[in-house]
Amino acid sequence: MSIRAKLILIIVSILVVFDSAAGLIFYWQNNLAAPAQTLNLIVFWTLLIVLIIVTAVFYLFIGIVTKKISRLSVIARQIAGGRFDIKLEKGDIKAKDETAVLARTLKETSDRLSGLYKDMERKVQQKTKELSSSLKETKKNNDLLEENKKAMLNILEDVEAEKEAADKEREKINTIIHSIGDAVFVTDNNYKIILFNQVAADLSGHGMKEAIGKRYNQVMNFVKEENGNPDRKNDEFIVKAMKTVKVMEMSNHTVLISKTGKRIPVSDSAAPLKDKDGKVIGCVVVFRDVTKERQIDQMKSEFVSVASHQLRTPLTGIKWFVELLLGQKAGKLSKKQKDFLQQILISNERMIALVSDLLDVSHIETGKKFNIEKKEINPAEIFQQILTDNIALIQKKRIKIIRCRELIKGFKIFADADKIRQAFQNLLSNAVKYSRDGGRIELNCDRSNKNETIFSIKDSGFGIPENQQKRVFEKFFRGNNIVTKATDGTGLGLYITRAIVEAHGGKIWFESQENKGTAFHLSIPNK
Ligand code: ADP
Repeated sequence: MSIRAKLILIIVSILVVFDSAAGLIFYWQNNLAAPAQTLNLIVFWTLLIVLIIVTAVFYLFIGIVTKKISRLSVIARQIAGGRFDIKLEKGDIKAKDETAVLARTLKETSDRLSGLYKDMERKVQQKTKELSSSLKETKKNNDLLEENKKAMLNILEDVEAEKEAADKEREKINTIIHSIGDAVFVTDNNYKIILFNQVAADLSGHGMKEAIGKRYNQVMNFVKEENGNPDRKNDEFIVKAMKTVKVMEMSNHTVLISKTGKRIPVSDSAAPLKDKDGKVIGCVVVFRDVTKERQIDQMKSEFVSVASHQLRTPLTGIKWFVELLLGQKAGKLSKKQKDFLQQILISNERMIALVSDLLDVSHIETGKKFNIEKKEINPAEIFQQILTDNIALIQKKRIKIIRCRELIKGFKIFADADKIRQAFQNLLSNAVKYSRDGGRIELNCDRSNKNETIFSIKDSGFGIPENQQKRVFEKFFRGNNIVTKATDGTGLGLYITRAIVEAHGGKIWFESQENKGTAFHLSIPNK
């Protein structure tokens, strides 16, 4: 029963009791009969007792309700204070009046609030966690940033130091380059001048500022000194140095034509400029004015030329007269006399050969090209003739000669017969000279390329020591392994042979292994 119903019932009971009591009092006071008086007394007392009981019940009921409400209000205050672990008595919940509804509502509210609170707390914790981790992250980032900043500063300091060092180094290099007595210029890998010293400026007639940034061939006009011929550019040694990554010498007789048209004989080399990884980043060209050396060289060559010419005439005379004597045109000779004359003839032949070599050398030296008169010739015939000329030595040393089929059958090339004979003679006589007794010489040719014919002369002789191989084509070079074995050499044959081959537009090269043998190859263009 609801409280309101209970209260209404109590109030109605009280009203009934009061109404009855009022009725009784009124009846009693208006002289009621005696027996009726007794009855009324009983009723009165009954009503009074009922009134007392009702009042007591009312009092008790009010007490219970107030107690419940005050308990619930304590709980409500707890909830308001944020405590949700409230404990309700079973009776509070199970009662059937409004206090139970209130208690249940309070319980539900506290449960929900507790749920919400927990949820909120969880969220707050999560947010706090997120916040703290993001704070940590931010701190970490800040630290990282700080570290990066420091590192950057360090790098900047290093770069600054490196730059300073590089500047100093550049300054030093500049000072060195500008103090060098030779002309020096440096190009980048696009052949543009990046450094140009004063001597280079003086020789070329181009100012330093004018030269820097220009392609080297716009400033440096290197040409080949060829008497009577129009100037031909002669600066490929710079390109070659960069392409082959090797030091390239200027070819002989290079002349620099200055801005004013002055011709200055120059000499020296170009060297590739490499970075620390070995990559070519430019080229250093060093050259000097060799006017004086050229003049001295010229005088020397002219002397050799004149001396050779002067020597040739008496030597030819000696040869002629010795041959007459040997032919017994001036009377009969004894065997001994014949032998002596034979020796004179051989020595004279050697002198003639030497003089002729010296003349060739002086021609090469003075830049006067060989007079090459090309015509159709048969190399097989030339080889046959050379073999016949050298047959005495070949037989003496029991050397086996093997010729390829084409060098027996014959074919045509377009070359200067005398010069080619001289080149082949040099190579073949060397092969014989520097072979052991019983050795073997192979003569081959390769005509697979339609533009050129390659001839090879291969022997199984003494070979050329590896450490001397790069000097083979130098004037007067003689290998230290043969000087005692074959004394009659001048060291001029290969020098002249190379000049002959190059005058034909061909090339000469070789492979050699000491004590195993040597193979010389030369290519002659077909046209
Ligand atoms: P020469 O033979 O008169 O000494 P060359 O110019 O023809 O001069 O040769 C130069 C040097 O090269 C020789 O002295 C020799 O040391 C070496 N040489 C040339 N050809 C051969 C070869 N076929 N075998 C071994 N050494 C050789």
